[in-house]
Amino acid sequence: MTGQKINTDFSRELFEIAQDLQGYLEYLKRLGYKGVPLSEGSVKTLEQMNKGAGDETLEMIRKDLGDCRRCKLHKGRKHIVFGMGNPRAQLVLVGEGPGYEEDLHGLPFVGQAGELLTKILKAIHLEREDVYIGNIIKCRPPKNRNPEPEEIAACFPFLQRQIRAIRPRLICALGTFAAQTLLQTQTPISRLRGHFQAYEGIPVLPTYHPAFLLRNPAKKRDVWEDMQKLQAAYEQG
Ligand code: URA
Repeated sequence: MTGQKINTDFSRELFEIAQDLQGYLEYLKRLGYKGVPLSEGSVKTLEQMNKGAGDETLEMIRKDLGDCRRCKLHKGRKHIVFGMGNPRAQLVLVGEGPGYEEDLHGLPFVGQAGELLTKILKAIHLEREDVYIGNIIKCRPPKNRNPEPEEIAACFPFLQRQIRAIRPRLICALGTFAAQTLLQTQTPISRLRGHFQAYEGIPVLPTYHPAFLLRNPAKKRDVWEDMQKLQAAYEQG
């Protein structure tokens, strides 16, 4: 059984459990029950799951982000790069963080790596307007250094809320950093790529970052294979 099939089965099973549970709760309501006893832990989990679960819009999240000064990256940025694309996208692409061009324009993936990303999307018959593109962090780190843990801790929850607001059917993680952050793993991208895993029940396909491809064109073949898997899952509807 492939990883993709296992994840799809897992998501379906979760969905069925949720449906059963909903049916049971409706039955209790009809019997006159006003609530169900839950442990403190379960209440917290439900509150966490409900936070932004489809009731927040991207505009609300952008407003909450404001002129963000939650970490030191605000000091050197020109623009916050919130994310762009279709708010109802079925596919969300996640990169690492803004580079020079992105910081300048306030938009994700508009530099050389972005041009390559646009071509990759076109190769699977998608336009940038079809998808939503975001990053793990929204401000450019000095000299494009790797983001630090407290910067991720301050920023990543916003992307998580964006993903909950969009509710995509699929996520593609671009590069080590996006894949490892979304999947909470230290496994190298060379092993993660091409295999679907789940983030909050949404299948995530990690692949190499377009900037890495610009430096290592021989890896384009791997990305092409990954994109064919992504396309198949996308077209499965
Ligand atoms: N690289 C990224 O990871 N994100 C961008 O937005 C641009 C380059």
